[in-house]
Amino acid sequence: MIFNYHPKLVEHMIDQTPKAILGLIVVSSIYIWIYSGYIPLSYLLIWIFLQILFIVFRFVNAKVLAECVRDGSREKIRRHVVYFFISIVCSAFIWTGATILGLNFAPSPYELVSLIMIIGLLTGSVLSLVPIFYIYIIYFFLMITPQLAIMILCGEHIHISVVFLTIFYIPLIVLLSKTIYKNYLNTIESNDSLENNVCKLHQLSITDSLTKVYNRRHFFEVSQDLIVISQREDKIVSFLMIDIDYFKNINDTYGHQAGDEILISLSQEIKNIVRESDVFARIGGEEFALLLLNTSLEGAKTIAGKIRTIIEKKHFLYEKKHIKMTVSIGVSALSESITTLENLYQKADTQLYSAKKYGRNRVC
Ligand code: GH3
Ligand code: MG
Ligand code: MG
Repeated sequence: MIFNYHPKLVEHMIDQTPKAILGLIVVSSIYIWIYSGYIPLSYLLIWIFLQILFIVFRFVNAKVLAECVRDGSREKIRRHVVYFFISIVCSAFIWTGATILGLNFAPSPYELVSLIMIIGLLTGSVLSLVPIFYIYIIYFFLMITPQLAIMILCGEHIHISVVFLTIFYIPLIVLLSKTIYKNYLNTIESNDSLENNVCKLHQLSITDSLTKVYNRRHFFEVSQDLIVISQREDKIVSFLMIDIDYFKNINDTYGHQAGDEILISLSQEIKNIVRESDVFARIGGEEFALLLLNTSLEGAKTIAGKIRTIIEKKHFLYEKKHIKMTVSIGVSALSESITTLENLYQKADTQLYSAKKYGRNRVC
């Protein structure tokens, strides 16, 4: 629970990392500047070394986390958030160490100076750490509790500062960070649902509501582009126009509902045959179009023959009734005289008309 965060929350944390590191460097420099006259150099150097180690780790960790967010791997994000948590616990100990050093070597009221610096650090961290809220809260208490204990046990200025802290600062910062965290979550949830809706709307705008294959508008838009690309690459494109024979009779005999069911299963039947790269759509009531990329006229005729045979052999089931039907198919392909989508469409339409004229259930 405390390590599982939405990738976008982790992204917010990563975005704020440079500022957080800068803030840490500033506070650490102030600490060194104030205490360097009192604390023995060896202790100070160890403390500086640990602080640099933490800063470098935080920088690397943010880079790795950014990659994990790009990959979208939740498990990897979780793992590196755990590493971050361990490092931040160490950081809390480093700061407690700083206060203990100050307490031992520097005269009073340096423990109060430490406390003020820690408060500054924790307040600044709200920006960078609140997206990972539970870790921030743990860090907050790990930092503030030793400071409070030191103030109560050893400080001379305990009265005002401790009272001030307990009454105002701690609940205030916890509430503030929780509110910011909730706002982050709400924004992310609304964005996710917006993206979802946009995706659904787009899907609706390109599909035929009955058969769920592409609709006429999308077919012509996509085909237009694909034909231009294919011509540029000198590739052949073919076009099939498929029309159900005597569909009106099927509606009249079995009812409109049966006609609808047949349109759905016929679309699925054809969709199963075509390749991913081909574009298949319902372009009219019982009319379908199929754009075959990289396919010659001969290849297109073979596919059309296959579709015709499959439909001819299929028993469409509606309320336990077996319904038989056939399709006629007109075929065309890009050539010297057929160079545009309109030409392809007109030619296939003419061929379909011929197929109907010569008795239906055939490919022309
Ligand atoms: P042909 O062999 O000449 O194509 O004859 P046909 O009966 O298939 O052609 P026609 O154009 O005369 O009739 C097409 C029929 O398709 C009429 C219409 O009711 C039916 N139709 C169009 N869209 C739908 C639909 O969405 N659902 C159903 N059930 N029927 C539809
Ligand atoms: Mg028809
Ligand atoms: Mg028709």
